[in-house]
Amino acid sequence: MSESACGPDIFSCQQCGVCCKGYGGTFVTTRDIEAISRFLSITPQAFERKYCRQSGGRSLLGQNGDGYCLFWDGLCRIHKVKPRMCRQWPFLEGMLVDIRNWRAAGEFCPGIRTDLSDETVKAVIKKKLSATPA
Ligand code: SF4
Ligand code: SF4
Repeated sequence: MSESACGPDIFSCQQCGVCCKGYGGTFVTTRDIEAISRFLSITPQAFERKYCRQSGGRSLLGQNGDGYCLFWDGLCRIHKVKPRMCRQWPFLEGMLVDIRNWRAAGEFCPGIRTDLSDETVKAVIKKKLSATPA
């Protein structure tokens, strides 16, 4: 088993793009909105109007009719400033809330390892989360 500073490698992206489609939507933080709107040279208000939808009082990136994120075009069009959630994926707080989310994500994300114990996965996720910039 290969190891990184955070423990065993429990994830290796296969670049398939499936995570940019659906799966609960992509939340954007205030900092994400500022960074992406600056990158697009529009105001944060215009960005939210044009590219976001609201859910539970939070902003999510909009999706095309095929379910893909509005910024997916074979590659992420805002890669340099993509939301924290995309930078963190699949090391999300929600995976720690219920580790079954990790296994569920592993059903569509071919980069996620599901052959390790819950304790091992949780320990790595915690370390990765603490190392991800806001
Ligand atoms: S679904 Fe998983 S393997 Fe595919 S691009 Fe997303 S993170 Fe990478
Ligand atoms: S912002 Fe980029 S990485 Fe994030 S879901 Fe959209 S296309 Fe995928």
